[in-house]
Amino acid sequence: MAGILTYALHDDEGNFNKNSLGAISEAAKLAGQIGGEAGVMVVGDIADDACAALGNWGATKVYRAKDVPEGLAQPVIDAMAKVIQDEGFSYALFGGGLLGFEIGAGLTARLNAGVTMEVTEVKVQDGKLVAERPILQDSQIADVGYVSEPGIIIGRLNAFDANESGGTAEVIDVQVELSPWSTKAKMVQRGEQRGADVDIEGADILVAGGRGLGKAEGFELAEELAKAFGGNSAVAATRAVVDAGWYPYAAQIGQTGKTVAPKLYLAAGISGAIQHKVGMQSSENIVAINKDANAPIFEFSDLGIVGDLNKIVPKLTEAIKAKKGG
Ligand SMILES: Cc1cc2nc3c(=O)[nH]c(=O)nc-3n(C[C@H](O)[C@H](O)[C@H](O)COP(=O)(O)OP(=O)(O)OC[C@H]3O[C@@H](n4cnc5c(N)ncnc54)[C@H](O)[C@@H]3O)c2cc1C
Repeated sequence: MAGILTYALHDDEGNFNKNSLGAISEAAKLAGQIGGEAGVMVVGDIADDACAALGNWGATKVYRAKDVPEGLAQPVIDAMAKVIQDEGFSYALFGGGLLGFEIGAGLTARLNAGVTMEVTEVKVQDGKLVAERPILQDSQIADVGYVSEPGIIIGRLNAFDANESGGTAEVIDVQVELSPWSTKAKMVQRGEQRGADVDIEGADILVAGGRGLGKAEGFELAEELAKAFGGNSAVAATRAVVDAGWYPYAAQIGQTGKTVAPKLYLAAGISGAIQHKVGMQSSENIVAINKDANAPIFEFSDLGIVGDLNKIVPKLTEAIKAKKGG
């Protein structure tokens, strides 16, 4: 079967993650073109109805491993490797995010497969999938095909849109024998750190603060600005400041943090190091405030403001409040 298997991450209440739903929609679209199934792996004791409802995003079959814990990569790798091998899936596709990257990479090693990461589009050529991956700081696109099966495709966060198409998926229970190493780590509690009740990955507007904010209290400026924007806005941070304890790790953008793609990303006092850039470069509009006109962030900003953020950010906050009528 030339199918595509995806993975649907869920929270403790059984709500599926938006990024996973995007991967399912993408897999469904592509599976139709290569004449295969769009399968989804779900771990944990998720109700029949909730699993079947993934058909609304195009899934045809949902493989549920009830006894496999959610939130840890190795057990999910065991489950997906089994389903890929037993059912003969040709590809596994992930929507990005930290766990998607870890599971995708682990699956690649386990199945001795080929992998493409940071994929922004997938197309079909001669009945096979070809992944498009931006390279050379996003100035070029490389087409990556697969010489053997399965092929692993890991998208950039939010690269794939979740489209509701209607429909119900068949739910199939699978028994998975966990590898000895997969039981070494146990999930004690799932949750986010302080400040992460704001979902930076899902926010439309992000005000990101860096070392230029001067101290932990400097984040109040960023928070005030985000509040003035209102709606689906949140505050994010660089690694330098989370390492310094100025803001929670859960808000960190970048290579060792989260990948974001908001409609507006506003950087206050951020230099624009490559490790930060890789986490936010897909933002639709990038605005940077920095007192150093030569700061690297201006090289990839749509709008750059050179000046002291302590003067500019409060004025911007006031201006937005005034525009919104208070
Ligand atoms: C393996 C590895 C992984 C990493 N992963 C990440 C990651 O995931 N995410 C991440 O962000 N970083 C990461 N880093 C760190 C990264 O290299 C940078 O050190 C970090 O991003 C810098 O943070 P910053 O921009 O806040 O600080 P700085 O580089 O110190 O920049 C502060 C900026 O603020 C400006 N500024 C100062 N005062 C003002 C003012 N009053 N008004 C306006 N502007 C002002 C300065 O001109 C400067 O440009 C990683 C590094 C390594 C080695």
